[in-house]
Amino acid sequence: MKILLAEDDFASRKFMSRILNKYGEADITVNGLEAVDAFLMALDDDERYDLVILDVMMPMLDGYQVLSTIRKFETDRNFKPEERTRVVMTTALNEEINVKKAMEIGCDAYVGKPVNVERFEMLLSKMGFEPIK
Ligand SMILES: [Mg+2]
Repeated sequence: MKILLAEDDFASRKFMSRILNKYGEADITVNGLEAVDAFLMALDDDERYDLVILDVMMPMLDGYQVLSTIRKFETDRNFKPEERTRVVMTTALNEEINVKKAMEIGCDAYVGKPVNVERFEMLLSKMGFEPIK
């Protein structure tokens, strides 16, 4: 499976990439603009991401902006709901209003930081993703 991680904090990036590597090939981007570029490049190459892990607070474009851009790309291409990339947002902003906003834009799940590995892996499993190693 193909995964895209967008996370500007080095420690979080290292932590998350270690988990995600168990699930497949994880591309890593360090800000929102790079994440959008990577997503679009994968779309154009017809090698779409199965899963995007998106930090909310990032430079250039924040997670909400990246998410809405991703959903727009998909809508423009007439993707069916089941063809859309699964997006999990990760953030320390756990307030209901932030969660609601992310869900409205179209994220599939919202995970509070610090990320609990066990719970995160359980979530991925519920979404149909299992480790390959
Ligand atoms: Mg951040």
